[in-house]
Amino acid sequence: MENIEKSSNRRYTKKNIYELINDQEKNSIMSFSEEYKTFLDLCKTEREANDYIIKLAKQQGFSEFVFGEDLKVGDKKFLTNRGKGVVLFKIGENDIEKNGIRIIASHIDSPRLDLKQVPLYESDGLCFLKTHYYGGIKKYQWTAIPLALHGVIYKKDGQKVNLRIGEEVGDPVFYINDLLPHLGANQMQQKAKDFINAEQLNLVVGGMALKDNNEKDKIKENILDILYSKYQIVEEDFISAELCAVPALNAKDVGLDRSLIGAYGHDDRVCAFAALKGIFDSDNKNTDVCMLVDKEEIGSEGVTGIKSKLYEDIIDEICLTLKKNVRKVRQNSMCISADVTSAYDANFADVFEKNNSAILSCGTCINKYTGGGGKSGASDASAELLQKIREIFDNNNVIWQSSELGKVDLGGGGTVAKYIAQLNIDTIDIGVPVISMHAPYELISKADLYSSYKAYKSFFI
Ligand code: MN
Ligand code: MN
Repeated sequence: MENIEKSSNRRYTKKNIYELINDQEKNSIMSFSEEYKTFLDLCKTEREANDYIIKLAKQQGFSEFVFGEDLKVGDKKFLTNRGKGVVLFKIGENDIEKNGIRIIASHIDSPRLDLKQVPLYESDGLCFLKTHYYGGIKKYQWTAIPLALHGVIYKKDGQKVNLRIGEEVGDPVFYINDLLPHLGANQMQQKAKDFINAEQLNLVVGGMALKDNNEKDKIKENILDILYSKYQIVEEDFISAELCAVPALNAKDVGLDRSLIGAYGHDDRVCAFAALKGIFDSDNKNTDVCMLVDKEEIGSEGVTGIKSKLYEDIIDEICLTLKKNVRKVRQNSMCISADVTSAYDANFADVFEKNNSAILSCGTCINKYTGGGGKSGASDASAELLQKIREIFDNNNVIWQSSELGKVDLGGGGTVAKYIAQLNIDTIDIGVPVISMHAPYELISKADLYSSYKAYKSFFI
C-alpha cells in the first residue's frame, strides 16, 4: 500500500488552552484577568465604563477628537457619545483605500433594572423604588440578592448628581423580595417567567417612619428627607435621571484552580475590555477603530446605539480628512463584532449541539452567524472573511474555536454585526463564551478572555 503522509492537522479539534501553553503565557492570562476584574468592579454601567475607558485611553496617549479637526498618521483619538460610549481610533501608515480600516465593535451596556421615572412609593411598612427591566433577563434571578444603585440625576437647575450606592464597604444595599417557600405552593406551580412579574421587581429602599409627622406616607417622607439632606434631590428630579439597580457583587475568581471569573456584566464588557486593550497594544500599520457602544441589549436603538449615524460619521470623517474615497475604504475594511456567545453547559446539554458549541477555555469563539431559526436576523459572514480571520489568528498564535449559540430552532440571538455589515463592511462575530449569560452573576474563563484579547490585537495589527 502507498504510504500517504499524514498532516498533523487533518482534524479540527478543540483543546483546553492550558494544555497548549507555557507558564509565561499562563502568567499573562492571570495578570490580564486581574486588570479585567478591576475594570468590571469600577464599571457597572455604560456611563461608568465610558469614563474609565477615557481615563485609560488618555494614559495611553489618546486625545479627544472633535469633528472637523485634521488627522495624520500616528494620531490616537477618542470620542465619547454623550458619555455612554466611546470610539477610539488610531491612524495607521497603510493606505486605507487599499487596506481598508480594521473595526472592532463591542457593547458596554448590560442587562439590569432601570428605575421608572416616578419610582418612589410606600406600601404597608416598606418604601420601594419601582423598576423597569432593561434587556433580556430571567426576572426571578434578580430577587433576594444585594443590589446597588448607580446613575445620574439632573436637578432642574442643571446640576448633576452622580449616585453609586451599595459598592463600598459599609454602604447600604437594595433588595427585591421573593416569596418564602412555606407560602410558595402556588408560585412553584407557575411557569418560571411568572415566578416574579415585572411589576413585582420593586427595590426595597426603606422602612423607618418619620416621627411626629402628619404626612400619610411617613416612611416615604423620611426617604425624601434623606434624599434631600444627602443629595439635595426632590421627588420630581427622578424625572430627569437615569438610575439603575445592578448586583452589588464584585468580580471574583471561581474554582480552586482560579481558572474562571464570576461577575456581573461580562456581556459584553469582557469583549469591550479585550478590544480596548487590543487597540492600545496594536502597532501603527493599520488604521484601527474600536467602537464601544451602548443600547445593544435593547436592539442597538437610539442615539447611543450602534444604529446611530455617529458611527458612520466617524468613518466618513477619517476618510474626508485623509482625502480618501470612503466607499473604497468601506469596501476594503473588515469588522469584528466583539460580543459574547453561549458556552456549552453540561448541566443543560440538551440545548447544545456539541460539535458546534463553544467549549469553555478552548479559546475565543468565531461565530460565522447568529440569528434564530433559519439564520433569521443573522449577518452570516462570508467564507472569504473566515479564511482571512483564520490566517490572521494562526499567524499570531491565537487559540480560537468555531461555535454557534445552541441547537437550531431552540432560540437565538443577535449582535451589532448586521448594522456594521449594512455599511458595506465585511463583519464577523468573535467573542468570549459565557455561562449563565444575562444572569446577575455570569461566568467566563480567563483563558478565553486572554485569547480574545490576542485575537483582537492581532486583527488590529
Ligand atoms: Mn452582548
Ligand atoms: Mn446580551
